[in-house]
Amino acid sequence: MKNKIDRRKFLIGTSAIGLASGIANPLQAQTRKIIKGGIKPVVVASDNGYTMKNGGKFNCVETAFNKIINDDDVLDALIEGVNIVELDPLDASVGYGGRPNAEGIVQLDACCMHGPKKQAGGVGALEGIRTPSLVAKAVMENTDHHLLVGKGAQDFAKNMGFKVEDDLNTESSREMWLDWKRRIDPKHYLDPQKRDLAGRNAAMEMINEGLIPKNEYYGTINCNGINTNGDLCGVTTTSGIAWKMPSRVGDSPILGAGLYVDGEHGAAGSTGRGEANIFNLCSYLIVEEMRNGAHPIDAGMTALKRIKENTIEKRLLNSRNQPNFDVIFYIIDKTGRYAGVSLYAETSKDKPFQYAVCTENGSTLSKIEPLLEGNSA
Ligand code: ASP
Repeated sequence: MKNKIDRRKFLIGTSAIGLASGIANPLQAQTRKIIKGGIKPVVVASDNGYTMKNGGKFNCVETAFNKIINDDDVLDALIEGVNIVELDPLDASVGYGGRPNAEGIVQLDACCMHGPKKQAGGVGALEGIRTPSLVAKAVMENTDHHLLVGKGAQDFAKNMGFKVEDDLNTESSREMWLDWKRRIDPKHYLDPQKRDLAGRNAAMEMINEGLIPKNEYYGTINCNGINTNGDLCGVTTTSGIAWKMPSRVGDSPILGAGLYVDGEHGAAGSTGRGEANIFNLCSYLIVEEMRNGAHPIDAGMTALKRIKENTIEKRLLNSRNQPNFDVIFYIIDKTGRYAGVSLYAETSKDKPFQYAVCTENGSTLSKIEPLLEGNSA
């Protein structure tokens, strides 16, 4: 128990002052001591795993890493990390305060996979529960199923003791939804095709006007980790694409799409346009590539090239005939090598994509390897 507290102190010291002062990093020494299985522990996540703290001291990746080096179960550690982001009203793409669907209702998707236990669980279009990642874990542990959706998923969660709330909107998420609604629905309903296009155009307009950042139109957290024994796990949780059609389920709760973990070979998860990922089952593809010996970067590039090849509909192409959306993958292999890869180098002009990493050196935002230069516009 004493060790646990000491190790936590090491990480606090490291991220705050250790690195800046240039002195030997105490956490490195501490982590070396605990590399029993010879693998360097690491946690990777989308950038909100670094930026969001919900008013606390630690971000998602630091929280998960600290638990992992204290011998906690890797999946429990990752879920505790993403809970910070789910509960943070300032992250408008995940959990409480996430962007609602087209009817103004927050519907959440999540899944988790436990490598060593070879177990998985997920929920789709779940309403009223701030931490869908924990409901996904409850599905994994308490049912014979991998995915529960909608009202049934909510009933299950209620029966498992989760608090169900009437509404997960914050004042700000409702305001933005009203603004979007006003733009697309001046006369109630357009024909379905025009309505779909109008919805997307209204959202793009709002991004261009600086009302919402692009990463909140998309936006999700995926978080994967490995401990010194090589135990690999992952979790993905989201409110999905902003103002989506009611009951639209994205890639995040779909095993093989928003997340895939094979305890013997690797873990991969994603953020970005879920439809592209569901169509190509990219997380599964990436893990299969690693099974065949590919480095995480090369495995990720294979999936990104597949998305590019399979994106031929005009409405999904920009003026350069390339995908007009983003997809990003966060990857760890069984030896602890890791990478973040994305379709494009930049989220918008001169703003590079980054991802969160926590190692014994503390947490940082790292550069993502892109398939294509520039951004998706
Ligand atoms: N992948 C998520 C979805 O399609 C959204 C995102 O990550 O931006 O629901």
